[in-house]
Amino acid sequence: MLNLAELKEILAQPQKIVITTHHKPDGDALGSSLGLYHYLVQQQHDVQVITPTDYPEFLQWMPGNDQVIIYTEHKEKSAALVQQADLIFCTDFNSLSRINELGEAVKVSSAKKIMIDHHLDPENFDDFRLWNTLACSASQLVYEFIAEFLGDKNSINANVATCLYTGIMTDSGSFRFPTTTSNVHRITADLIDLGADNAAIHQLVYDHSSENRLRFLGFCLSKKLEILPGYNTAVIAISKEDLAQFNIITGDTEGIVNYALSITNIRLAAFMIERTDKIKLSLRSKGTFPANEICKNYFNGGGHRNAAGGQSESTLEQVVHQFKTLLPAYKNLLTQ
Ligand code: 5GP
Ligand code: MN
Repeated sequence: MLNLAELKEILAQPQKIVITTHHKPDGDALGSSLGLYHYLVQQQHDVQVITPTDYPEFLQWMPGNDQVIIYTEHKEKSAALVQQADLIFCTDFNSLSRINELGEAVKVSSAKKIMIDHHLDPENFDDFRLWNTLACSASQLVYEFIAEFLGDKNSINANVATCLYTGIMTDSGSFRFPTTTSNVHRITADLIDLGADNAAIHQLVYDHSSENRLRFLGFCLSKKLEILPGYNTAVIAISKEDLAQFNIITGDTEGIVNYALSITNIRLAAFMIERTDKIKLSLRSKGTFPANEICKNYFNGGGHRNAAGGQSESTLEQVVHQFKTLLPAYKNLLTQ
């Protein structure tokens, strides 16, 4: 393990650094990675962001986007960078399975590994950890790493601020989840002062739907939404054929589950989607309902209490059935 003083000493010299984040990066995964990237580049390090997979178009405007290497498109180069790195920052994940094949390369690399994360149950692959499940986002933790751990708030430039603002905004549900504390608002205010253009960022992320995506959303809500009133639960299950019909691309399905959760009295919403190789589940809940417990125990996944995900090798019908048969065990939590 490294302590903070040792890490600071390492960072005082130029290092070869890889930053990586989870499969199908979201706004926080990419925001925390690129925010850290812009900070470390400014400190004269040789830095490379590597994502395990591609990510939505509505994030591709972020400063530094053109510097990101996508592992699935550049496997050998990514593996070499990971192998040669002195330091690997792992942001917004804490289990190597979340970075797919890249996990093995990170595991065997002799680089020192720094985890900056806010998910439950971290694995022990790191040498230094900034981990806090109460944080609204990994981007908040990157801010704290720079401003508090390294005492270097003055180095937060407009690019760093823009990326971190994006991560905090997206992972806090636009500043609405309970983790959006007054401290988060203070950090956000700092980021605006340091150059994040809040109105522009909202527009770039949220007003960026294709016509297809919006029509697909309409289809999900009018044709696919199933309400289970006895369990205050809503389910949307989408097949491969549905995806093909609307030419769905990475990012198009993000956020649809929240519409199901927005119905009065619904406490649990499930969005299930038939990807080429497996079924991907997204669960969202209100209040104390542990969506992550269902994902962890039954769907090989995890996440936060109110936002979790998982997967299954079964068919879509089987997954829907399995999910519904779990509900009686949670009836009290869902209805009382
Ligand atoms: P989403 O439903 O947007 O894919 O994910 C919601 C939350 O659950 C995110 O915080 C994400 O990190 C977590 N999550 C999603 N899929 C998985 C998974 O397969 N494994 C684990 N451990 N967490 C997941
Ligand atoms: Mn996050």
